[in-house]
This record gives sequence, C-alpha cells and structure tokens, in this order.
Amino acid sequence: MKVRLLPSNVSRPYDCQTLTSFVINDKLVIDGGSIGFAMNPQDQLGIHHFVVTHTHADHIASLPVMVADLYAFLKEPMLVYGIGPVITDLMQHVFNNRIWPDFTKIPLPDGSGPTLVFKLIEVNKPFEAAGLRITPIEVNHPVTCTGLLVQDGDKSLAFTSDTYKTDLFWAEASKLPNLKAVFVDVSFPSTEEPLAERSGHLTPRSLVEELPKLAGEPDIFAVHIKPFFRRAVVAEFAEIGHPRIHVMEIGREYEW
Ligand SMILES: [Zn+2]
Ligand SMILES: [Zn+2]
Repeated sequence: MKVRLLPSNVSRPYDCQTLTSFVINDKLVIDGGSIGFAMNPQDQLGIHHFVVTHTHADHIASLPVMVADLYAFLKEPMLVYGIGPVITDLMQHVFNNRIWPDFTKIPLPDGSGPTLVFKLIEVNKPFEAAGLRITPIEVNHPVTCTGLLVQDGDKSLAFTSDTYKTDLFWAEASKLPNLKAVFVDVSFPSTEEPLAERSGHLTPRSLVEELPKLAGEPDIFAVHIKPFFRRAVVAEFAEIGHPRIHVMEIGREYEW
C-alpha cells in the first residue's frame, strides 16, 4: 500500500502543510485540501475516489476547483464519500450553485452521467472504494469528523484526521490486521495544549498520552503540523526520542 501526503503549495512544498490530501495507491484521495493545487492535472485525471473526513476548509479547499478544472476531460464521475453531515454541508454550502456549480446536476461531457456523485457512508461500517476496505470512525473535533481505517489486502493503515484525545478510533485501529502505520494530527507543540484542546487537535505530549490506547507497534506519523509551529513540533519530537514516532515528509511516497 502506497501513501503520499501532498504538498500544500509550490513555493515551500516540503516544509509547510496548510491543507490536507493523502493519496493512496495513486487511486484514492483522503480529503480534498490540496490535491487540485498540488498534483498535476494529468495525474488528477486518474483519481475518481475522494473520501472527505470533515468539511473544514483545509480538507476540501481544492475539491470544487479540481472538478471544474478537469471537467472537459472527465470520462467518469468523481465519487465523493462522506458521512451524512459531510455530504449535507458540501451540498448546501459548496456545490450549491452560488459558491460553486452543483456538479451533481451537470452531466459529463459525453452526457453519460453526472460529473459528481456523493456516496453516503456510515460511521463504524466498512465500505469498498478503489480496491480498499475503509471504515470511518468518529473522532473528537469541533465539527463531526471521522478518522479512517484503511485495509488493502492483508495490510492496514489508519488516519486520525483532525482530533483531540479520543477512544473509539484507537480501540478500532488496535483490531486491524497487520497495522503498519497511523497518521496522526499533531497540529501544535505542547506549549499550546489549551489551544490544541479547544480547536480539537493533538500535541506531541497528548499524542504520547494517547499511544497506550493503541495495540501493536505500528509506526506513527505526525501530520497536519501548523506551519508556524512546525519547527517547534519537530524539535519536541526529537527531544522525546520515541523510536516509532516520525514527522511525515510532505511529498514523499511511503510504501508497505
Ligand atoms: Zn478540522
Ligand atoms: Zn484540518
């Protein structure tokens, strides 16, 4: 299974994450924060599956732009998977013919079907997409947000999406067969713990406090580090020296 955290911009692509998009196996994207800005359009055309964990702007920013940019070349619909509140918000507040056209009502250029299809998924219920088995688990964030457990054959990965301390996600991730890695929101350094708790994100200290909830010994990759705090978070992890905790490199392809 291959995973890439896409860059958020072109000027400082490798040390600054302001948006979230992970690409899995070149076929499926978790969150539409940066894919439409960071990936070249030819490669975007090969991706039709988009799972949206929640509708905060940093997780959906490039999605509407991408649909329109690719429109003339699309041969099959873009499938956007989300739980009820996510689909409702995208329909009411983004693809509402005011902020952006309602592409669910616009046929593909060859007239064969809609350009955009929303696929309703349910928490704790696995679904199949792009050959992967994915289970959304609700996490602890100011808006309804799901972490994702992703299985590809006999290997598993887990993505917390945006969360502060939480229980069910770690419990369910612990049951995954052959869990190789967990990608965790560590937005702020531990000096900003009150802000992290208020805004629903972890810090290095609260991540370390969470880890006993996770069985096994998967690698832990910190992502979603706020740009102004990146240096402090990296330094804090170096000081903690936990052998399985890494800061995920933006743009690098990891494979298990
Ligand atoms: Zn968020
Ligand atoms: Zn976020």
